[in-house]
Amino acid sequence: MIGTGVVDGIAIQKTFVFVTKPGETGASVPLGMKEEQVRFAEAVCLSKSQLEKIVDKIKRDAGEEAAGILEYQLLILEDDDFLGKIRGGIEAGRGSEAAVRATCAEYAEFFRHVDNDYLKQRYIDILDIQKRLLDALNGRADITALGREVIVAASDLTPSQVAGMESAWVKGILLENGGASSHSIILARSLSIPCIIGLNGLMDSLHGDETVIMDGTTGEVLVEPSDEQARCYREKRAAHERDKARLRDYIKREPVTLDGRRIGVYANISSAAETAPLLAHGGEGVGLLRTELLYMNFEEAPSRETQYGVYAGIAKALGGRPLVVRTLDVGGDKHIGYLGIEPEENPFLGYRAIRYCLDHPALFREQIAAILMAADAGDIRVMFPMIATVDELLRAREIVEDVKRELAARDVPFREIPIGMMVEVPSVALMAETFARYVDFFSVGTNDLTQYLFAADRNNKKVARLNNSFHPVLLRCVEHVCTAARARGIEVEICGQAGEAPELIPLWVAMGVSGLSVSIPTLPLVRKIVCETDTARAKRDLEAVLVMESAEDVARYLREKTQENQAAEQESGRD
Ligand code: PEP
Ligand code: MG
Repeated sequence: MIGTGVVDGIAIQKTFVFVTKPGETGASVPLGMKEEQVRFAEAVCLSKSQLEKIVDKIKRDAGEEAAGILEYQLLILEDDDFLGKIRGGIEAGRGSEAAVRATCAEYAEFFRHVDNDYLKQRYIDILDIQKRLLDALNGRADITALGREVIVAASDLTPSQVAGMESAWVKGILLENGGASSHSIILARSLSIPCIIGLNGLMDSLHGDETVIMDGTTGEVLVEPSDEQARCYREKRAAHERDKARLRDYIKREPVTLDGRRIGVYANISSAAETAPLLAHGGEGVGLLRTELLYMNFEEAPSRETQYGVYAGIAKALGGRPLVVRTLDVGGDKHIGYLGIEPEENPFLGYRAIRYCLDHPALFREQIAAILMAADAGDIRVMFPMIATVDELLRAREIVEDVKRELAARDVPFREIPIGMMVEVPSVALMAETFARYVDFFSVGTNDLTQYLFAADRNNKKVARLNNSFHPVLLRCVEHVCTAARARGIEVEICGQAGEAPELIPLWVAMGVSGLSVSIPTLPLVRKIVCETDTARAKRDLEAVLVMESAEDVARYLREKTQENQAAEQESGRD
């Protein structure tokens, strides 16, 4: 089987087939009754199959008797009274989660008060079942329960599903669908989990537990490989690890081009837990903190104090290095149930990011206040996502000013901070000179900018061919943004995935970007490429590619140039 490799790395492991469909997850607003019935039925199936596997494993490892404890949970999941009560709740108009919680509460209450020690323990089983059912409804793979390393195979995964995974167990991800710049893949990349997407027929050909080799560079998947194939890939994996180890030299070396230009190399993160790894990989700060994950981890919007703690904590750990906090970019493929955004026909063109925040000023103000207050702890900057018009930018800025007035009136300490915006909507790229008047910096989101330039959903594999950041139109847009920014004296960084594409890095340098914000695992490679860049040569290449007609032409040209340069370097090394 072959798909598109989107995160490098080779994994050889048994599969875990994850069946919950992402479209049906995380719904805290009840869907229609029929849909809720189907969701619940599937959650029961998934929970049963998970339990059956665990029971089998316990039987193998510890004998029949030990497995008896969990067999009781299996019986409950087949019990007509238990299931009937939940189904009744759904028929009465409740969402599946609410119906599960109500019935489990009733059962747990009964067992808790029963006058029999043996039955009393069933109380814990009910809580366990409740958790398993809710996890299944929310699409969380219960990989911890498997207690082993796996390659996860799924039709698709939502960002919260990837975030909810026990990453130490997940050695690889195979998706039938998926998009290279989807947020699920972005998260997997930051966790260094090899990924392949666009694997047609994947879910029909895997049942779980088969041994698979996957190569995240080439997109190859081998099911039940021969011993010889496994040996061959183990060697390849060892070579890959050696290459990565060689890059470690660049972690300490300053990212300065051959002609002496200093380029900032920052990391994209979505949680405080990534601060230490980013520093260990040579990150000079955070160029993009995606705050959505923080919101996803809570049952309701985190308070300003909670957010303050997170932002200040990261800033402190960065020890004075910059931290760009992007305000909430909800919507698109990032669903946060409790915010109540209704399902949309075209979520990437819909109620997303700043559009939502401007309509919900109370929520937005809490985040802005937390960012301003945390600025005392380090070099914090704020950045607005998905700005499409000057009016949106000015309204967002006005809210920042208003929050400052509120904090000052209440004697709450805060700091003035730079205000920037993402350039990820074509309207902004085209009018960059106007927007540059109102911000302190730009950060180019090439993931969205590419999808919007080509009107091609970044998560849709059928149009993935169009989403190509080597296309001259994207390069022309970014070049235009850099020229406009230079004229106003403001800085530009790239924080979309194209910022870490090795062949494109010299072009960004030639355009005059001040920094690149990339996924943590690629930091050493990006530093290396900056060190090897000759700006004058990159400018000649830029001039050549800007007038080309297609992404393929650009890619071919850059590949040939790289080969020529490598040959010339080898030649001069021999002299
Ligand atoms: C982008 O669009 O390029 C970007 C960095 O933001 P996100 O991927 O979170 O949409
Ligand atoms: Mg974006």
